[in-house]
Amino acid sequence: MIISVASGKGGTGKTTISTNLAMSLASDGQQVQYLDCDAEEPNGHIFLKPNIKITENVTVGVPEIDMNKCTGCGKCGRLCQYSAIICLKTKPLVFEQLCHSCGGCMAICPQGAITEKQRKIGIAQFGKSNGIYFGHGKLDIGNIQTPALIRYVKKRIKQDAINIIDAPPGTSCPVIEAIKGSDFVLLVTEPTPFGLNDLALAVEMVRQLKIPFAVAINRSDIGDDAVVKYCQQENIEVLMQIPNDRKIAENYSRGIMIAETMPDYKYKFLKLYEDIKKMEKND
Ligand code: SF4
Ligand code: SF4
Repeated sequence: MIISVASGKGGTGKTTISTNLAMSLASDGQQVQYLDCDAEEPNGHIFLKPNIKITENVTVGVPEIDMNKCTGCGKCGRLCQYSAIICLKTKPLVFEQLCHSCGGCMAICPQGAITEKQRKIGIAQFGKSNGIYFGHGKLDIGNIQTPALIRYVKKRIKQDAINIIDAPPGTSCPVIEAIKGSDFVLLVTEPTPFGLNDLALAVEMVRQLKIPFAVAINRSDIGDDAVVKYCQQENIEVLMQIPNDRKIAENYSRGIMIAETMPDYKYKFLKLYEDIKKMEKND
């Protein structure tokens, strides 16, 4: 099973919920894998403290131009939708960071002057943490190819385990890459006008992708009831509410998980999983 934990905006508690869910399931004897696909800012490792066994460079193909063969026809520059090749008066210039590795320029060059070389965009690390299989991607600074790194990390999905994907925040391409193929998406939000606005965008996204989903509200007592009302109107299940508890905040600031120090939360996270399973089956 693949459960993605996502949110329309950052800082809502997505990693708190995904790491605690993983830990609670593992301590209940389940085979669990946690994959942190928030590749621009992965921080699940702060809570799970994995023993990293494997570190791999992640690369993508970018064009390399043989200037001896290039006639400066400009076809590659006109084709590239991402302005990763600019054809000046004579010869083309490549901006590797902007390249999306579509391969179009290599295919179109009439002189066969463009070949592919590998460019490092980040690393992927894998290990184990208290019985949980752990993986995350870390994008190098200045790179934009987050989806490619997410695809690399997701290759580790285990068919015989509960896979929990910690998705990037927002509703753009990296999020879609992370949640694509999931059996269920849990959308984490907070009861504020910003939380509601971004939740509505995230709901639209998962509905378009036709993935069953529900909502978890973090710091549920800090704002108003607009998120709950919205969920009622939209017929969306709210599967979990976590209050704004000082002990939780203190634990968070020390990188300690709720389920470690507040055992009743372990049962709340196990109940969350049971509810997700039921909803996924009934969909
Ligand atoms: S398409 Fe080939 S020949 Fe034309 S400018 Fe680009 S690299 Fe040079
Ligand atoms: S591979 Fe695609 S994105 Fe990259 S430079 Fe060539 S045409 Fe542009």
